[in-house]
Amino acid sequence: MKSNESFPTTNRRLRFPEALSKISEPVEVDGPSFPSPWPSPQGEGNAISASDQQGAASLMLALWSVLPLPWGEGRGDGEVPIRRTEECQRASARSEALKPAQLKSWCRSGSAASKGVRRLVCLLVGLLSSASTNADLVLADKGQSPYRIVVSANAIASERYAAEELQRYLERLSGARLPIVTDDQPLGSNEILLGENAHLRALHQEIDFAKLRSDGAVLREAKGHLLIAGGNPRGTLNGVYTLLEEKLGVRWFTPELEVVPKLDTVKLPDLDESHIPALPYREVFWTEMMRNADFAARQRLNGHHYKLTEKHGGRAGIYFPFVHSFDMLIPRELYKEHPEYFPLIDGKRAEGYVQRCLSNPEVLKLAIDRVRQWIKDHPEATIITVSQNDTGKWCQCEPCKMLDDAEGSPSASMLRFVNAIAEAIEKDHPNVRIDTLAYQYTRKPPKTIRPRHNVIVRLCSIECCFAHSLESCSSKENQRFRDDIIAWQPIAPSLFVWDYTPNFSHYQQPFPNFDSLQANVRFFVAHGVKGLFEQGNYSGGGQGEMGPLRAYVLAKLVWNPDTDVKRHIDEFLRAYFGQAAPKLQAYLEATHRPVREKGFHAHIFDPPTAQYLGAEAMDEGEKLLDEAEQLAENEAVRFRVQTARLPVWYVKIANNRVTGEARTELIRRFLAIARKAGISNISEGRSLAEWAKRMGE
Ligand SMILES: [Zn+2]
Ligand SMILES: [Zn+2]
Repeated sequence: MKSNESFPTTNRRLRFPEALSKISEPVEVDGPSFPSPWPSPQGEGNAISASDQQGAASLMLALWSVLPLPWGEGRGDGEVPIRRTEECQRASARSEALKPAQLKSWCRSGSAASKGVRRLVCLLVGLLSSASTNADLVLADKGQSPYRIVVSANAIASERYAAEELQRYLERLSGARLPIVTDDQPLGSNEILLGENAHLRALHQEIDFAKLRSDGAVLREAKGHLLIAGGNPRGTLNGVYTLLEEKLGVRWFTPELEVVPKLDTVKLPDLDESHIPALPYREVFWTEMMRNADFAARQRLNGHHYKLTEKHGGRAGIYFPFVHSFDMLIPRELYKEHPEYFPLIDGKRAEGYVQRCLSNPEVLKLAIDRVRQWIKDHPEATIITVSQNDTGKWCQCEPCKMLDDAEGSPSASMLRFVNAIAEAIEKDHPNVRIDTLAYQYTRKPPKTIRPRHNVIVRLCSIECCFAHSLESCSSKENQRFRDDIIAWQPIAPSLFVWDYTPNFSHYQQPFPNFDSLQANVRFFVAHGVKGLFEQGNYSGGGQGEMGPLRAYVLAKLVWNPDTDVKRHIDEFLRAYFGQAAPKLQAYLEATHRPVREKGFHAHIFDPPTAQYLGAEAMDEGEKLLDEAEQLAENEAVRFRVQTARLPVWYVKIANNRVTGEARTELIRRFLAIARKAGISNISEGRSLAEWAKRMGE
């Protein structure tokens, strides 16, 4: 799986104690090596945690006191210790030549008598090889720091902004304000080097910037300096956010709720990690992520709808138009003069919101002219959309039908049309790609027609069950989706996915899809997807059932599909709901139990009568949220709990489980909270005001 290759790659030194932990007894430690409100601020994957390191250090100290040491005094400068015993040197050579698993196996082999010795030697060598070169970096202590932040004198805007962000948050973490200087100055002894610059070169640090692409970064300790070096234009800034979030415990939960731990000592363990996102294009299309560009950048999102500017490194793709562009491409008004441009359905050229006749050469000519005009009018656009309208009604005329029948799917005439446009503009606009959909009737790929290299195919999962993962659900819809993505993967050079994450007919309705979010992102990445658009509640007021949490978890996942989702949910609930968090956790359990235990499927247009919204689950949910409200420690938290309980009321009202005066009162309370929360939409197509009217207000 690609994500495993790129997240986070960690050097052997850091992996060693992981192997060590499996051959030694667990070590009790007092706590993490730097204070943080989070259980595991050390990030993801294979990287050693702070408590692992401290545990290893504690163990070494314990051994130090009882064992004759096989080496002399260290040189005191963090270099490799001298005068090792023969056994130790052999083990050291092995530790460098062998992978941790092999070393572990060596440690476990041998006679019963030698086994214990081997284990101990391995243990010590591992600790020393780690301790010998990885002096912790103390960036700040008691409000003082010897470090300065260095950027190139020619730094791009996002590198300069990365320096400011790092300065800002380090000051809030530690009380120390680090100066920002350029590489015109001579190399100092304690520097945080951002991006490509002269000091980085002077340190002879090899960074493969091409491999980091536009968004990836290396975090590395080198000779007492800290390097945060990323690909242009967003990598270094992403690297700063990765450091702050994954190594120092900063959290950005919503644009208004961030947590910055206060640290007496800002200390980093030895670092040498690459963080390269598996998804080059990442878009969480939730209002929570879109309403503040600085916040979106901190989530390391880079899609079209964020108002990212030059200081954020801009966006990974700028669309024009965004989707469903046939009405703009071949305007409906042409029907009067040219009904033959429009689809033949049941023997008649159809009018209105329909597709177009894609085998008509005049339609192609007009489309190419239009696309050229769009590129001229929108020089910033890097992706031009030529995609079907949001309906069926495709052309059944003889030439269209003949091709589609021969190719086994109406995607054939679509793709031939899109390819022809992509070919026509390629020479003049080599950096522009044409985007189209594999959606509903075009989702199955054609047998022989292949998307050109400058065509993006956006596969859409709209029909699927999201209670269970795309990969595991037994529903026919998910089986068909699996078949289609497997068929597109080898033939589409740029495969994107348009995915769906709340209930779109009822934003205010529990949607039990938390179990499948991670599995699905991983599934997309494993099937070659390069761009992921996670559609959510994108209405002006945002929210929706567990909207802020859903958006947050999705942002973590599109950056790192292997991230620890459970930890993110726990942290978010604790920060957002305070003492009421356990009740919210229990609410999530209650609303997911029916789809887990009874196997009910969940689709994005399910009505309030869906089986998984039965009275038992909803009553339990309401009881838990009642209790949560009692636990809320302040008004802000209480209001968040009240907003989170709207979904169970919504289902109660919709299913007429409350009548008469009580119903009127519940609707009144629902609307009062929803309005105070700024909720604008009750569904994708209906405003809260319209719903209020329907409810008799
Ligand atoms: Zn046709
Ligand atoms: Zn299912």
